[in-house]
Amino acid sequence: MSQQKLYYFDNNATTRVAPEVIDAMLPFLRDMWGNASSAYQFGQQVKQHLDDARAKLAALINADPKEIVFTSCGTESNNTAIHSALETSPGKRHVITTAVEHSANIKYGEFLQRRGYEVTYLPVESDGSLDLHVLDQSIRPDTAVVSVMWANNETGVIFPIEEIAAICRSRGVLFHTDAVQTPGKIKLDVKSTGVDFLSLSAHKLHAPKGIGMLYVKKKAKFQPFVIGGHQERGRRGGTENVPYIIGFGRAAELAMSTLDEENTRVRALRDRLENTILKTIPNTVRNGSKEPRLPNTTNIAFDFVEAEAILMLLDQLGICASSGSACTTGAVDPSHVLTAMNVSPMRARGSVRFSLGLYNTEAEVDYLLEHLPGIIAKLRSISPLDAKHPDNDKFDLKAARQKHDHAGHTH
Ligand SMILES: *Cc1c(COP(=O)(O)O)cnc(C)c1O
Repeated sequence: MSQQKLYYFDNNATTRVAPEVIDAMLPFLRDMWGNASSAYQFGQQVKQHLDDARAKLAALINADPKEIVFTSCGTESNNTAIHSALETSPGKRHVITTAVEHSANIKYGEFLQRRGYEVTYLPVESDGSLDLHVLDQSIRPDTAVVSVMWANNETGVIFPIEEIAAICRSRGVLFHTDAVQTPGKIKLDVKSTGVDFLSLSAHKLHAPKGIGMLYVKKKAKFQPFVIGGHQERGRRGGTENVPYIIGFGRAAELAMSTLDEENTRVRALRDRLENTILKTIPNTVRNGSKEPRLPNTTNIAFDFVEAEAILMLLDQLGICASSGSACTTGAVDPSHVLTAMNVSPMRARGSVRFSLGLYNTEAEVDYLLEHLPGIIAKLRSISPLDAKHPDNDKFDLKAARQKHDHAGHTH
């Protein structure tokens, strides 16, 4: 493993597992490895801790513990909610979601379309916000479910979930929200918000990857996605991943206690990073509205530069950040989120997301701010893109790498 210090600004991709979470998990790997479904004490002790963790997740979102279903990840939670809504709404074959969802929704929607369902992907405004009038007008008699994320993972833009839930309720349509990016950043309350389904993923709140949760409102009809044993009150087959659920529970507890710090210290770090970049580096703009927005996320377009090249040079300095672009067959497709916001393909391919977290320090932000202007200036000086080629279409990653390597040799 690399000994270089890590400057991690990619907390929307995944987060470091908190030491407290690891400590909580270890006994369930080492000693208490019984099956929570077994009737003997060795199993039932484990079951008690499982129930504790369930109660902690319930507290995080103000739900009843019986409304919490553990899954394998955020993706499974999202798929399950939409699957269940369709299966329990006979004759309804229309789903509404947005054009800026996580691929967990976008790709599941495409799967459904191939199976003969109809899916509406709601457009967004240029600042990433939703027009609720359009949402309301998209609801049809055969709409089974509306699925809208609480906060966007690429831009941090927050959607008005309470208002959307109210619209769905008044129209008699089920409402699911992908809240994966929200714990520890926004106060969550499923009761006052009135959602039917809500997805979380542990690895976005300082717990391990491979464990998720779906809130299913009491009395809501439900059809499992993973069919098997009677675990999770018959709502999700598969022996419970006890150590990970325990870790998830501890992380939920921590997220409630760090909400303030995320919204003060982390927000101030994010704001300083964003403001300094926008002020000191020419031809930069923020993607997405300033507010309402997650306190940890900033997405910035560096015009006339490729994000992939910026990320490569940052990586050499131990700095982790990301772009929403998908790299397919050697060429880079611009982020579907920025594309939906009508950001030009060139600007979208020059956009970088920095997502901060509880473990970031002032000194780390200083380090990033110390190196970034030079990186941008250097890339602009060798850039294959410039104002003369605004519709430069596909970015050739291979050529950029060669160019980048060549640039490296000159220093
Ligand atoms: C990370 C993420 C997911 C996927 O969660 P996994 O546990 O990785 O499957 C879904 N939605 C959003 C908004 C995310 O950020």
